[in-house]
Amino acid sequence: MKDYIARAVTVGGQVRAFAAKTTDTVAEAARIHNLSPIASAALGRTLTAAAIMSKMLKSEKDTLTIQIKGDGPLGGVVVVSDAHANVRGYVHNPDVYLPLSSDGKLNVSQAIGRGYLNVIKDLGLKEPYIGYVKLVSGEIGEDIAYYFASSEQIPSAVSLGTYISPEGKILSAGGFVIQLLPEADEKIISFLEKKLQEIPPVSNMLYEGKTPEDILKYIFEGMKDLELKITEKSPCKYKCNCSRERMERNIVALGVEEIQDMIEEQEGAEVHCHFCNTRYWFDVKELERLKNEALAVKDEAKTIETNEEEAAAKKTEGESIKKNQ
Ligand SMILES: [Zn+2]
Repeated sequence: MKDYIARAVTVGGQVRAFAAKTTDTVAEAARIHNLSPIASAALGRTLTAAAIMSKMLKSEKDTLTIQIKGDGPLGGVVVVSDAHANVRGYVHNPDVYLPLSSDGKLNVSQAIGRGYLNVIKDLGLKEPYIGYVKLVSGEIGEDIAYYFASSEQIPSAVSLGTYISPEGKILSAGGFVIQLLPEADEKIISFLEKKLQEIPPVSNMLYEGKTPEDILKYIFEGMKDLELKITEKSPCKYKCNCSRERMERNIVALGVEEIQDMIEEQEGAEVHCHFCNTRYWFDVKELERLKNEALAVKDEAKTIETNEEEAAAKKTEGESIKKNQ
């Protein structure tokens, strides 16, 4: 069973729900970044959240970024998704190991620490939408639920999980988001509250072979007059969008002086994509060509006012240029 997201609504339109299986996506992230089990859990949960939230975007070209910054040993998590649940991400410190929590679980909350969570949506408008919340637990699922409630004013239940073997193999990953629409009445809320406390962890259900639709049906089972209709099934995968051409544009955006430094001091430049761990090498000859392009850009900029700095900062997020040593 490949990774996918199922979307559903209740017939009366009082609730909408999403469930995802993201096992292969998270396994690919763990492979690319050589993640410790706890780093896999943190990045896996965030990748799953972003994949589900990408299905709430309205336009094909919209993108979504989740940034978690905490004072724990993991440092932070960054995940980006396009509107088709092509997700990519990284954690600042992929090789964090911590003792299991008292209930025998990976201590994600301790690895993340205290801090905040940002959701940035690029909806093709002049300014991106930015939602900001303080972390309530660092377990990620609860933090995303809090984000929905406080930034988007949508009461939501969020469950995100990864089931990882002691050796670090991703056995299952996925999650669900259930959102109450303004018409939802009290009866539904109390039913769901009770039900969500009773059901097993989402990663266990997936490991046992339940599909995302099975999980949604299971959650709503037993609620009278609350028939669930699956409206969409769409794929999800780990996919980076970097390329040599993209990296060239990032170097050009650094400006003439910076490129000149790379030529003189480093005799080349290595550009590293944090999302897929690909390293691109640019030698002096290529840098000379890019410097000329940067010169042309600079001349143009004299006549046209642009907010280049901002654009460059945005473009280079997730990429870094290393010195050649
Ligand atoms: Zn990449």
